[in-house]
Amino acid sequence: MKVVKFGGSSMADAGQYRKIREILLADPDRKVVIVSAAGKRYSGDHKLTDLLYLCYSHVKYGVDCSRIFKMIMSRYLDIQSDLDLDLNLEPELKALKKRIDAKEVSREELVSRGEYFSAKLMAAYLGFQFIDAADWVKFNMDGTVNQEESYNALRGRVTPGAGAVIPGFYGAMPDGTIHTFSRGGSDITGSLAAAALDADVYENWTDVSGILMADPRIVDDPQAIPEVTYDELRELSYSGAQVLHEDSIFPVREKNIPVNIRNTNDPQAPGTMIKENFEGDHDPDRFITGITGKKDFSIISLSKRGMSNQVGVLYKVLKVLVRHKISVDYVPNGIDNVSVVLPTRAIEKELYTIMAEIKQEAEPDTLEVHHNIAVVAAVGRKMAFRPGISGKIFAALGESGINIRMINQGPDELNIIFGVDNKDFEAAIKVLYNSFVTK
Ligand code: ASP
Repeated sequence: MKVVKFGGSSMADAGQYRKIREILLADPDRKVVIVSAAGKRYSGDHKLTDLLYLCYSHVKYGVDCSRIFKMIMSRYLDIQSDLDLDLNLEPELKALKKRIDAKEVSREELVSRGEYFSAKLMAAYLGFQFIDAADWVKFNMDGTVNQEESYNALRGRVTPGAGAVIPGFYGAMPDGTIHTFSRGGSDITGSLAAAALDADVYENWTDVSGILMADPRIVDDPQAIPEVTYDELRELSYSGAQVLHEDSIFPVREKNIPVNIRNTNDPQAPGTMIKENFEGDHDPDRFITGITGKKDFSIISLSKRGMSNQVGVLYKVLKVLVRHKISVDYVPNGIDNVSVVLPTRAIEKELYTIMAEIKQEAEPDTLEVHHNIAVVAAVGRKMAFRPGISGKIFAALGESGINIRMINQGPDELNIIFGVDNKDFEAAIKVLYNSFVTK
């Protein structure tokens, strides 16, 4: 059995609903369907969830939201009439509007209606059972999900072998009121449903053919990653584009259920498979799984003669940063010097105080700060214990005249991280991609 989740762009109009039906018909194991609210049909269009948030803000400040609500209504009623459904959502939408005007609808309940109405339409179109997320996704008072209770509730509602459609993004608090996940949270609902039902795979359908090896704004037409482990994904999503909501990994990972990222607009593409690990090497020539990075880091460097024989210099530096609640990304060091690498925006406001405190605590001989550093990470599980990869990386960068400001490798050898000047960021990513990815 497969649990399948369709994101906003897959739910944007009647044409997309038809594609989804074809996808489900192509594989009878695709039985439990999680849906997002309608997304953008074209660039410049509005996401339904955004319109709902906007509607709530209007009402909150006493401004009439009828025009926005009309847009919301027509998005759904257009799909309903295009698909010629028996269902008529109009009375329910109008009743909601009345409650909004009477200020009876909370912000979270209102924004959750995007997924709710999507699921109602999709269930009617497919002839599947509608299962409300509020009836099984149970939140604790602290906003975490009560997994056991939720899983049991869903198992009690799904008829084995029959199809079901579930709205993503929300659930119920212990008192029954609606609570939503953070934005993009329908991914979490899908993951919880897959875990509850012990699915063989959790398919997450979106509008890209998988997770890309590099940012397509930097590299032309980058290849999709066929296979990635959860650990690699974590390294990649630290900076790269987020295809999946970060919290959606946990429920499926606990149960060892693979996640398959697929493209509703290109259903033949195999997409990206995410698993704990992969048996066998399906692509022995591919050492790097993906390349990612972020700009705008700063390096605080200090040197102190005889530092390697002194206890606690690094501790004193970190103590200052802890006091300012600043977390450090990397700590490259030499014999008598050490630096800390951290996002510039984290220290910007308090930089002079921080520098003064480090000077006082650690009493360095020199203390400097350098800004405009970009961090690039080459990620790949197959780099571990394989000589020559970092040699190849640094040779390629050297040949292109890119100066490396910092080098760091995690102890698990899952990544090689290096710092370059901000201005070299895009070039560094391109050089790496072109030297490791053979078309
Ligand atoms: N509709 C919600 C959002 O736009 C949740 C989702 O699509 O996953 O964030």
